[in-house]
Amino acid sequence: MRPSHDLVLRNARIYDGSGDAPYLGDVAITADRITAVAPVGGIAPGSGEREQDLGGALALAPGFIDAHTHDDRIVLDAPDMLPKISQGVTTVVTGNCGISLAPVTFSDSPPPPMNLLGDANAYEFPNFAAYAAALARIVPAVNVAALIGHSALRLATMADIGEKASPDEIAAMQAHADEAMAHGAIGLSTGLFYPTNAAADIDEVTRVAGRFAQHGGVYATHMRDEFEHVLDSIDETVTTATAAGIPLVISHHKCAGVHNWGRTLQTLPKIEAAAARHPVNVDVYPYTAGSTNLRADLVTDTYRIMIAWSRPHPEMEARDLVDIAEEWEVDIHEAARRLQPAGAIYFQMDEADVRRVMRSKLSMIGSDGLPHDQHPHPRLWGTFPRVIGHYARDEKLFPIETAIHKMTGLPAKVFKLEGRGRIEAGAYADLVVFDPATILDQATYDQPLRRSIGIEQVYVNGRLSYTAQQGVVARAGRLVGGRN
Ligand SMILES: [Zn+2]
Repeated sequence: MRPSHDLVLRNARIYDGSGDAPYLGDVAITADRITAVAPVGGIAPGSGEREQDLGGALALAPGFIDAHTHDDRIVLDAPDMLPKISQGVTTVVTGNCGISLAPVTFSDSPPPPMNLLGDANAYEFPNFAAYAAALARIVPAVNVAALIGHSALRLATMADIGEKASPDEIAAMQAHADEAMAHGAIGLSTGLFYPTNAAADIDEVTRVAGRFAQHGGVYATHMRDEFEHVLDSIDETVTTATAAGIPLVISHHKCAGVHNWGRTLQTLPKIEAAAARHPVNVDVYPYTAGSTNLRADLVTDTYRIMIAWSRPHPEMEARDLVDIAEEWEVDIHEAARRLQPAGAIYFQMDEADVRRVMRSKLSMIGSDGLPHDQHPHPRLWGTFPRVIGHYARDEKLFPIETAIHKMTGLPAKVFKLEGRGRIEAGAYADLVVFDPATILDQATYDQPLRRSIGIEQVYVNGRLSYTAQQGVVARAGRLVGGRN
């Protein structure tokens, strides 16, 4: 008999991405697709050109979708994408928080937060088609689903980003939206918290988001305020998305700052009420610290602050701001000023809030990792195994199948990634084989670059791309979602 499948994975503990409990089964793959799924023994013996028995103990899940990344540049510069594929991630959603690599270029240093993706030479794509072409040429190890950042659009089109955009400038942004969506972008992001985006009001964002909505896009937002005024920001966000007629994702939902701890008891019911009337989801990372630029308005002695990078003082990376201030015999505000430009890790959240957001039916897992930082937040290397191993298996926050759903079936639906996020016949063969008994993050705040354990094999578009023993063995990622 001639084999009818390229590969059959047998006797796997299948988490299919739907959130349903796992079952023992066989999965067949041919070229880039799953060609058959059946209970154990349901796929004829010998029908695979290659066959592998997973022994009934190893789990098989759809490849994880990182719902929130800043991987726009790293997929080109370090296309093996080891920090992500070693966690079982097969698709990254890029362009979050208003920050995207296209369509903008700079003659001087990019202003914060655009500098989180690199210097002026990182920004070489005046339109999205050029970025898509670079991805197709380089072929990263993971798929890319690309949001277009409002800050990038504003910097590309506006005379003064400190103002609200004029009608002509909004029209120019809408033209970029047309171009990007025609070449395979999936929607818009904003970062109204950031100075490059903050002057945009509801009207401006609605007009820009509305154009993305016409092309079937989605809208993800780092809201204006995640501190005292988080409830107002949720109102603003929902008003905007509803007026624009665009599905909404609230980015890295949190209640930041010691005085706001516990307030997810207010924010989540508000978001859930909105979700009953309009498509609304949130993404979340499984840590109580956040990370972004070192900002004067985030410097406080009420929570710990660790330096992730500093241009003038790289020797201070990985050290706490209070210790640096003490060594320099200045206060923390002066120390922060001397470290600029810099990035920091802020221990600004409450564990109970993080757990509450993770448990919400609306939440997806997104790392928000910053791949260019010298001493990054451990979420870059640890997010997905941490949710499965620490929070689901060890802490029993929810069943493992729920954890898997939040990183597969749910984000595929929210970001409209057709054929992804599920194990079913006809779906793309993005798959991860992991050991549910051992999977766990290893990256810590002190040692953030440690690879997670328990991820055995990762397939991207049908290609075996990563193994625990050999690391990255192939690169088969594509631009996905939208028109692709
Ligand atoms: Zn953000």
